Amino acid sequence: MVFLTKKKSDDNSVKIGKNNIFQGDTAIGANSKIIKDSIIIDNSQKIRYKSPKKDTTILNNFAPLLITKYGRKKIGISGIISLLAGIFTILSGFKSLLPQVQNNFSIDFLNIIPSFPQFGVLVFSIGLCLFILGIFFLKVIEYHDITWCEKCEHDFAYDEIGDPDVVETPTRFGYNVETTHTLKCKYCDNTKTYPEIHEYDKEGNLLR
Ligand SMILES: [Zn+2]
Repeated sequence: MVFLTKKKSDDNSVKIGKNNIFQGDTAIGANSKIIKDSIIIDNSQKIRYKSPKKDTTILNNFAPLLITKYGRKKIGISGIISLLAGIFTILSGFKSLLPQVQNNFSIDFLNIIPSFPQFGVLVFSIGLCLFILGIFFLKVIEYHDITWCEKCEHDFAYDEIGDPDVVETPTRFGYNVETTHTLKCKYCDNTKTYPEIHEYDKEGNLLR
């Protein structure tokens, strides 16, 4: 999350100087949140703060069940197939709901997408479900790989300890946000960190 980003158009914008420090209950702008112990790092315009842990309850409950029953490979393949089938079906639903769009498809491969004018909503909904299922299966794979302990080789061994460290770095387009998670194996006590990097535009929309 980009907490300290302000829209350029705001009239009450505040110039952030080189040596300002934000500590305790500092909040800037109408939509800002209070961030405990956030600081500007040196003169680099970077901002560092602690972010609350992400809730992984759903993955924590379903990923071990799915991986134990079907294995990583099958879940991965199902995820990719479901995602691609979802995109195809969503396009088909979109084409069914807006028949006039068909005439505007100039790329040949889009013409092979079938259209079901009477069932557009149904086709679109099925596509959306397949797409979400595909994303979920791929998230299960990612969660499995992150929580697999390379030392004792247990599946789903790592738990996140403490709140992740976040560093926001301004870029030409907005902000880079690097979140560093600290994980500890519940079987052998091995610890590791893994970074998660996202880029936001100036309005706080996720770019990648
Ligand atoms: Zn371990």
